[in-house]
Amino acid sequence: MPAKIPLVDLAAQYATIQAEVDQAIRRVLETTRFIMGPEVQAFEEAFAAFCRAQHCVGVSSGTSALELTLRALGVGPGDQVITVAHTFIATAEAISAVGATPVFVDIQPDSYNMDPAQVAQAVTPRTQAVIPVHIYGQPADIPAIRAAVQAAGNGRAIPIIEDAAQAHGATWQGQMTGVLGDAACFSFYPGKNLGAYGDAGAVTTNDPRLAEQIRLLRNHGRRSKYLHEVKGFGQRLDALQAAILGAKLPHLAGWTDARRRLAARYSQLLQGSELTLPRVAPEADPAWHLYVVRTPARDELLAHLHMEGIGAGIHYPIPLHLQPAYQDLGYQPGDLPVSEAVAESCLSLPLYPEMTEEQQDRVVAAIHAFLG
Ligand SMILES: *Cc1c(COP(=O)(O)O)cnc(C)c1O
Repeated sequence: MPAKIPLVDLAAQYATIQAEVDQAIRRVLETTRFIMGPEVQAFEEAFAAFCRAQHCVGVSSGTSALELTLRALGVGPGDQVITVAHTFIATAEAISAVGATPVFVDIQPDSYNMDPAQVAQAVTPRTQAVIPVHIYGQPADIPAIRAAVQAAGNGRAIPIIEDAAQAHGATWQGQMTGVLGDAACFSFYPGKNLGAYGDAGAVTTNDPRLAEQIRLLRNHGRRSKYLHEVKGFGQRLDALQAAILGAKLPHLAGWTDARRRLAARYSQLLQGSELTLPRVAPEADPAWHLYVVRTPARDELLAHLHMEGIGAGIHYPIPLHLQPAYQDLGYQPGDLPVSEAVAESCLSLPLYPEMTEEQQDRVVAAIHAFLG
């Protein structure tokens, strides 16, 4: 049996950066600055520079990033927040956590991202934010979404929050995710394009007041030790994780290049097969968090790949509007036909910067053998 090929290989990555990561961890252990402090600040500055954003606030996870951003914008009970159903559930959970109601709109059949035309129809006087997701690392068309929201809201300022959890370093018309909306929420969950060794996240924005409010909220509503200006939360970025992320960040551009090379190679090798391959908008340079193909025989192909020792996956098999957790919203099968069709047919192939061409050839050979 040849060695298994995982969906992502965090051990292979650690082997390439072990000395730098170990040194960063030791630095924190020796200084014992575990909460806030210079490591957190240094990473925030470095990640803001990476996104070309004016502000970055480190928080405890991508979910916290979304939740704190909504709270800082004053979104709460009675408000609606428009988002997509084809995403990880955290996008919607953050909306529910602040007491607002998620309103799900359908996605485009080519990009799998929020459809600007659908958003326009979903805006109501209760809409207080819109959260497009850069799914699989493909940037959503934020300028078109913003234009649609502004027109439908009669010019009322409705903030656009990017869910950039899968899209570190992706660009739209040369602009980085992180500055396309009014704020952007990043996850550094271990398997993300920039991953911590535990939970971590960040918000980037060019709005100094919003950044300051999120800084307050993440740390118990305080600027100084004993004065709590507002009721806040314990959702800080851990200093150990900040140090690890700081050691990894200089490698991110190179890792993204490797993902882009491998994604282009998948597309070239799978060209002409019956699979629907990812389509990239001319304005977009994706970060390729995932390389996702579609086929009506998805479940059979997935089983075949698993039998061959290949770690393919599904992102995501059940759209959020049909999840038991969101039954209370009253959606029915058929309400979001594109999201539902993609959920039934999407398949994520192994993709990580350290993947070799030989490993990729094995994945492609297994797919061709299945398709016959
Ligand atoms: C990973 C992810 C999140 C949540 O991030 P955590 O750091 O796991 O809380 C939110 N949205 C999307 C699209 C994600 O992929």
